[in-house]
Amino acid sequence: MQVETRVRAINCLHFINGQFVESQNQKTFENINPATEEVLGTVAEGGKEEVNFAVAAARRALNGKWKTMGVVQRSKILRRIGDLILERQEELAHLESMDTGKPFSLANSVDVPRAAFNFHFFADYITSVGTDANMQDDIALHYSYRRPVGVVGIIKPWNLPLLLLTWKLAPCLAMGNTAVIKPAEWTPMTATVLMEICKEAGVPDGVVNLVHGFGPNSAGAAISEHMDVDAISFIGEPRTGTAIMKSAADTLKKLSFELGGKNPNIIFADSDLDEVIETTIKSSFVNQGEVCLCGSRIYVERPVYEEFLTRFAERVRTLKVGHPLEADTNVGALVSKEHYDRVNSYIEIAREDGGTILTGGKRPSGYQKGYYLEPTIITGLDRNSRCVREEIFGPVVTVLPFDMEEEVVMQANDTHYGLAATIWTNDLKRAHRVAHQLEAGIIWVNTWFLRDLRTPFGGMKHSGIGRTGGMHSIDFYSELSNITIKL
Ligand code: NAD
Repeated sequence: MQVETRVRAINCLHFINGQFVESQNQKTFENINPATEEVLGTVAEGGKEEVNFAVAAARRALNGKWKTMGVVQRSKILRRIGDLILERQEELAHLESMDTGKPFSLANSVDVPRAAFNFHFFADYITSVGTDANMQDDIALHYSYRRPVGVVGIIKPWNLPLLLLTWKLAPCLAMGNTAVIKPAEWTPMTATVLMEICKEAGVPDGVVNLVHGFGPNSAGAAISEHMDVDAISFIGEPRTGTAIMKSAADTLKKLSFELGGKNPNIIFADSDLDEVIETTIKSSFVNQGEVCLCGSRIYVERPVYEEFLTRFAERVRTLKVGHPLEADTNVGALVSKEHYDRVNSYIEIAREDGGTILTGGKRPSGYQKGYYLEPTIITGLDRNSRCVREEIFGPVVTVLPFDMEEEVVMQANDTHYGLAATIWTNDLKRAHRVAHQLEAGIIWVNTWFLRDLRTPFGGMKHSGIGRTGGMHSIDFYSELSNITIKL
């Protein structure tokens, strides 16, 4: 299906020391539109050499005029980046939609405004960050001094490209660091435009650098191995986190990992089912289910199990799967052929494991091209099925009934993941009791995806290392020295 857009896709170059450049060997790869399977443009394919140039530029810039800028000046630049993102909102939303397959309406209402807010938030936040001072009787004054960590490698996934890049880059710059960014190979466009925006906003050359390319044996690995990169901020799959940790170990880098999730969405019988169903539609299928926080394991207390399933399935059948640029599309295309095949393989596993495909499980009619999959509800699976245990990262949820609170807590925790969880109940005591028992970094009661950027964000177990948000981000992107003055 062809849909006209006023915004044209771009060819993506690296951005090193304030200039857009090709790879040394001129190598490129194709960027494919997941909605049409057509080529959107080319992407420079970087590797060790480009990463070496970028890291050298970032190291020089660390000690250049960026170092002498005060907090107020850095705050102004951050604010300007946020403003420029909003000025180019529609263009960025189109590019994000073309790259990822997500509905334009979603990119325009969530991804891009939040990207701007990430910069606006940290522009304000850093102006109020202080440090501790301790008087030790009349003997000494101790105070802490906060400085940048240094050159930070930022390695990104493809699902929320601009939102997540800005979530890391804003505090990184706020604290006076310099950055070498590697966007996901499937979604290079908005990161490239963000480099133009940074330059226009007054970020000095070399402070922000971008190298396109792949992960293993390519640009990603070159960043995580590099002797002169001081810290890595990584978002992606747990097994990539393991690879990065191994290579970063040789140079003892500071690490921040936000990794995958297989998050339980627990629905008790006393909850308000109207609200549960509307929010569960979002927590299951927004962004084609390609959100680390999606509640893809749904547990429903037996007395309302049948009613929930009937009403949930009815509502899911009303969702429009379609071209991302069409205004009424709710669910767009999955990001790539490779990912589409992987998600579909789980539907096969569900069938083999005796599951019932209650909705979806197939391509919508009328779409021969593009990586479209109807929102899929699977029931009747044993809790040991791979569909219940592994992150599918697509528009696929499993629904299981439960009888006892202890039973659902045990099942919810029976996973290596520990990112997020949602609890639906009107019983206040139970809400607290269950929340305290769930092994997850982010727990919502009677809501989902409600965020305040000051609060800790991150996962436990195999879902991550460290927390970001507010002071947690400031701590990661800075080093504290204690200075003692003898009196
Ligand atoms: P991925 O791990 O495959 O890739 C992420 C990035 O790492 C890409 O840029 C890739 O090129 C790079 N990479 C791959 N191998 C590498 C290596 N050996 N060394 C260095 N870099 C390497 O993840 P993905 O498929 O892009 O993203 C999906 C995953 O991200 C899911 O598991 C999802 O849950 C997770 N995610 C987590 C959060 C969170 O906040 N916790 C947010 C979004 C996505």
